[in-house]
Amino acid sequence: MSDIRLVNLTKSYGEGNAVSEVNLEIGEGEFFSLLGPSGCGKSTTLRMIAGFIRPTSGQIFVGRDDITALPPERRDIGIVFQNYAIFPHMNVAENIAFGLKLRKMPKAEIARRVEAALKQVGLVGYDDRYQRQLSGGEQQRVALARVLVTEPRILLLDEPLSALDKGLREEMKFWIKDLQKKLRITTVYVTHDQDEALTMSDRIGVMSKSRIVQIGTPQDIYERP
Ligand code: ADP
Ligand code: ADP
Repeated sequence: MSDIRLVNLTKSYGEGNAVSEVNLEIGEGEFFSLLGPSGCGKSTTLRMIAGFIRPTSGQIFVGRDDITALPPERRDIGIVFQNYAIFPHMNVAENIAFGLKLRKMPKAEIARRVEAALKQVGLVGYDDRYQRQLSGGEQQRVALARVLVTEPRILLLDEPLSALDKGLREEMKFWIKDLQKKLRITTVYVTHDQDEALTMSDRIGVMSKSRIVQIGTPQDIYERP
């Protein structure tokens, strides 16, 4: 059974559609990329899966559950944005603990999970640092840790590397892929960068003008672009 299923998913703003009749099944543990130029509807699709944007029509399933009408906080989905948005007045440990405190988790459990998350993202010993003391790549790792610590069923990544310089982007590309494989977390990755999609994905959905126009493995997409 697929982990995520989009059925005729559509979002219109006034005249035009940002997303038109998208049908898609993503398997459990799969790394799926939505690839396409700026404005083709990738971000809107992702935000509908996250629950920040309500579809005009269509449905979203996770497993057997129709989550189309659920608010974001009840979806068991983590999302990381391009501009990581870590809180500057909190240190790394406090940033990562933030979502768990909201859930009123016991302190000892929070401490244990934060430690595990720091290990996962390779930032052991960074607990006390503030944003200004972190590189772009380190900030993006904190943003990922903050999401992973809540142990979501599904991970959504919206152009997570595009604020980083080229060298760091290369490094983070492989690092994110490895982490995803290790965690086996179902992942939807949004990018306009063909090279990122080809390197990281199990499958790619190519979007153009609000529609998915091709779905395939990186090899399929590379051979028939
Ligand atoms: P992408 O993520 O591929 O760059 P988006 O999903 O952000 O594309 O946008 C798809 C299209 O929908 C674009 O033409 C964009 O201008 C339009 N759009 C996105 N959000 C809104 C909005 N809130 N109101 C009106 N148009 C929007
Ligand atoms: P990102 O670059 O992170 O995908 P955008 O900068 O495209 O995000 O959009 C930021 C916000 O502005 C989103 O909430 C999106 O829905 C909204 N937006 C995007 N395009 C338009 C538009 N043409 N008209 C109105 N709102 C828009």
